[in-house]
Amino acid sequence: MTTNDLGPVATLRRIAFLMERQREETRRIEAFRKAARTILPLPEEDVRRRAAAGTLTELPGIGPSTAAVITDACNGVVPERLVALERTAGPLAQGGEELRALLRGDLHSHSDWSDGGSPLEEMAMTAMELGHDYLVLTDHSPRLRVANGLSAERLGRQLDVVDAVNDHLEGSFTLLKGIEVDILDDGALDQSPEMLGRLDVRVASVHSKLKMERDAMTRRMVAAVRNPHTNVLGHCTGRLVTGNRGTRPQSQFDARAVFTACAEEGVAVEINSRPERRDPPTVLLELARDLGCLFSIDSDAHAPGQLDMLDFGAARATEAGIDPERIVTTWERDRLLEWAGARL
Ligand SMILES: [Zn+2]
Ligand SMILES: [Zn+2]
Repeated sequence: MTTNDLGPVATLRRIAFLMERQREETRRIEAFRKAARTILPLPEEDVRRRAAAGTLTELPGIGPSTAAVITDACNGVVPERLVALERTAGPLAQGGEELRALLRGDLHSHSDWSDGGSPLEEMAMTAMELGHDYLVLTDHSPRLRVANGLSAERLGRQLDVVDAVNDHLEGSFTLLKGIEVDILDDGALDQSPEMLGRLDVRVASVHSKLKMERDAMTRRMVAAVRNPHTNVLGHCTGRLVTGNRGTRPQSQFDARAVFTACAEEGVAVEINSRPERRDPPTVLLELARDLGCLFSIDSDAHAPGQLDMLDFGAARATEAGIDPERIVTTWERDRLLEWAGARL
């Protein structure tokens, strides 16, 4: 039997984190996060007493399996569940370890303000635990209703919350203000210039009419890249190669024209780390490399454990021979912010 000195809250969070990075079903993971939130404010003695008396399940959000985990943790035991998860907890991908160690942050993540599964505080906490210096929170823009995109008013409120979170963070980590803004059919961005100007980093992505005719799609993407608010071109082809959402072919556009615009404007081409996206495809990644583009290795995390998916992007960038100096997420925070504000 292994001893456990994590305590119940950390044990529950660790289980959730490891399940997420292995892409287990969100609904099952949420039970562990919910249980952690339930016991977090309780005095440790109360939790121990309930564990001993078997009354943990009387608390809201705690069922038999999470109660068993808490009881084990109170007894200094590593739950079976965690033992099994830790056994497979190594790097998610091979070959990118050196580059992964150089990455300082992540420019693309979602919270439950749009279609993510966790509060932004939880995303920030996990990013800190992963050793990031910064995380850009990039919830969706208003037109993406299926993803509960943020109106200008809701985004304004979110920015106040981000300020409040940062006030509580002592030390080197910063939660940065951002957006994953929809690229509209004509290439305009789906948020007011005023709001976009209040953000630190802006990822622009196509989420609609992915099958648009090639020339129109090229014009649309080039216009978005030329927009001085755009810093990162998110998952440029929109393809899905695997996963429970099924597969989807890549959008058709003149990649040379789009990446040339990125190189000229200093817009980073995102290497989207999600295994179901692997976007851009290798041929396009190499083209962007040869055209002199900057890159951003992003997780596009919709849950805290998915922040660790940078392993996949680092492996792909390494395989494509991309110079770490051209990857903006290897830069220090202040250099990153200077770059992101340079065209405004
Ligand atoms: Zn997206
Ligand atoms: Zn996203």
